[in-house]
Amino acid sequence: MPEMRLGDILDDYCSRCRLLTDHSVVAMVGEQVRKVRCRTCHYEHHYRQGKAGPRKNQPSAYEQVLASINPLVQPVPAEKPRRKRKTR
Ligand SMILES: [Zn+2]
Repeated sequence: MPEMRLGDILDDYCSRCRLLTDHSVVAMVGEQVRKVRCRTCHYEHHYRQGKAGPRKNQPSAYEQVLASINPLVQPVPAEKPRRKRKTR
C-alpha cells in the first residue's frame, strides 16, 4: 500500500454522492488515513477504505407485518340467523 499524505487523493465511498469518488486526505493517524473529504461535494467523513457504509435500518419482516395490521379493525357484527316461519 502506497504511503499517503495529507492532501493526497484517493478513492473512497461518499455517502452523499453515493458513489466512489475522489477524496483528499484531511486527517491521518500514523500512516493510516482517518478522514477524507469528497472532492465532488466537499463532504468530510471517516475514511471507509472504499467500502459503502452500513445499510440503512430497514424494518424487520415482523415490524412490517405489525404495520400492515390496522389496530382499529373492529369485529364485524355477526348477523343473527333468522328463523323462517312457515305461514300457511
Ligand atoms: Zn461526495
